[in-house]
Amino acid sequence: MLPRGLRAMRALRLGGLGRCPLGRAFADDAAKATATATATATAATAAAPGGSPGVNPKTSGLPMTTPGAPGAVRPRVVIVGTGWASFRVLADIDTKKNDVTVISPRNHLLFTPMLASSALGTVNQRSICQPVRPLTAKKNATYYESSVVGVDKEKQLVTCKTLGGQEYNLPYDKLVVGIGFQPNDFNIPGVKENALFMKETADATRFKDHVLEKLEEAAYCHALDNDLTLSDEEKWKIQELLTFIVVGGGPTGVELAGELTDFLYNEVANLYKNLKPYIRVHMFTYDLLNTFDEKLQDYAITHLRKKQNVQVHLGAFVQKVEPNVVHVKLGESAMSIRYGTLVWCAGIKPHPFVSDFGFAMNDKGSQILVDPFLKVKGEKNIYAIGDCATIEDYWLPQTAQVANQQGQYLAKALGMDESKTKPFEFHNKGTMAYLGGLTAIMANLPGVSRITGFVAFLGWRFTYWFLQLSMRNRFMLVTDWLRTFIFGRDLTRFGPRSKPT
Ligand SMILES: Cc1cc2nc3c(=O)[nH]c(=O)nc-3n(C[C@H](O)[C@H](O)[C@H](O)COP(=O)(O)OP(=O)(O)OC[C@H]3O[C@@H](n4cnc5c(N)ncnc54)[C@H](O)[C@@H]3O)c2cc1C
Repeated sequence: MLPRGLRAMRALRLGGLGRCPLGRAFADDAAKATATATATATAATAAAPGGSPGVNPKTSGLPMTTPGAPGAVRPRVVIVGTGWASFRVLADIDTKKNDVTVISPRNHLLFTPMLASSALGTVNQRSICQPVRPLTAKKNATYYESSVVGVDKEKQLVTCKTLGGQEYNLPYDKLVVGIGFQPNDFNIPGVKENALFMKETADATRFKDHVLEKLEEAAYCHALDNDLTLSDEEKWKIQELLTFIVVGGGPTGVELAGELTDFLYNEVANLYKNLKPYIRVHMFTYDLLNTFDEKLQDYAITHLRKKQNVQVHLGAFVQKVEPNVVHVKLGESAMSIRYGTLVWCAGIKPHPFVSDFGFAMNDKGSQILVDPFLKVKGEKNIYAIGDCATIEDYWLPQTAQVANQQGQYLAKALGMDESKTKPFEFHNKGTMAYLGGLTAIMANLPGVSRITGFVAFLGWRFTYWFLQLSMRNRFMLVTDWLRTFIFGRDLTRFGPRSKPT
């Protein structure tokens, strides 16, 4: 018997919102989850213990339950990665028909569109991460915290490497590769050494810590000469420490600039009153939000410049990054700026895995080439999805939406007769970006071509709230937003300053 409070919460989760369509969707999800868990548990108890027919001792040791083929061994599906594409395959795949193993060094799905929000503390990092374990437990799948470092296509084995460096092999019947991309420094001197990046939660933590460090340095640097008066030289130093540079005007760069300026002109302006006049934010980019139409691009540029105080430099190419100076080419002219923080959001490149393991590649050699059914060209049982793959003659942007839909498609296709599957088709459900100052832009929504301003901001928040993969994350996000609204963003600085005693 559950305590009364818990019973009430469960009732709310399963059907308390039943009158609104959204509530019904949650209730349906919960009912489906319960049905899947019950079916799997029933199958598990019905089978004989390990070693009996139908149990594959090499993999999870779970009973084999392929419907219609009693005792038949389920195909071993190895899913590589826990990103948007792979996680969706895991969430949707029928584990009664497939013996699923997930391999990824990251034990969670990161809700990347909100990484910038988490970098400045508007929301907590844990609120935008979906751990893989609850899902593998619910679906009777296996998870290994490792990276795949090799594929033997002849023997159908993947070589995995643990975070501690030990290697082991795993057999597969079907392999699903969804390993994404990594940031690209385009071999520009000094980027790797001096820039911050924005790709994983660790990048967001490092960014926030770095920003707080620069603020504190700026607050005490005038006292280092044992004289509290502010010299011109010290003013220049403070301005350097408080110069923030965002390189790249895609959604990541723009959203980060928006969140950063929200933080600087609210919490920082209030709590470091003397420092406000020295704050500078620059964005260097060739173009801005080039996947949106011109009107929305202009709206975003104007908003960033006028409302968020970002100096947006278009047509810019960064040439070199030194520890405190960035050198940029702007058309025919060039400029150098001293900075305290430089964050690189300017491009992505394939992981070595993508190019090293003999898969068919696109002309640029940057993405795995797949057929319209997401199968790697020339392979019988290897699929590639998400950012790391491109469909022959069907270009799609490298976005979470594409990756998610490909994962959904493949999970279904893996349980079907191949001759009955239709080619993958992408359905654009709209794009959006947050610009800071409770303002966003939304485009290509069903029935509406553009929305801007506060209404778009509400739409942006609601969409990302709704897209969370669990009620836990939805709950955490709402409480984070409420906390930030009432108390502001947190400025506590952990890291090396809080060593265990
Ligand atoms: C900051 C940021 C903001 C973004 N904002 C948006 C947005 O607003 N809208 C949008 O649509 N898209 C956005 N994107 C893009 C979107 O995140 C990607 O398109 C999406 O993540 C691609 O999904 P994926 O599954 O292909 O790769 P990823 O999500 O990158 O996942 C790759 C997975 O593979 C794992 N992996 C890597 N190498 C190995 C290996 N050797 N072995 C095993 N596992 C491995 C990784 O740990 C990870 O789990 C954003 C991206 C970033 C970084």
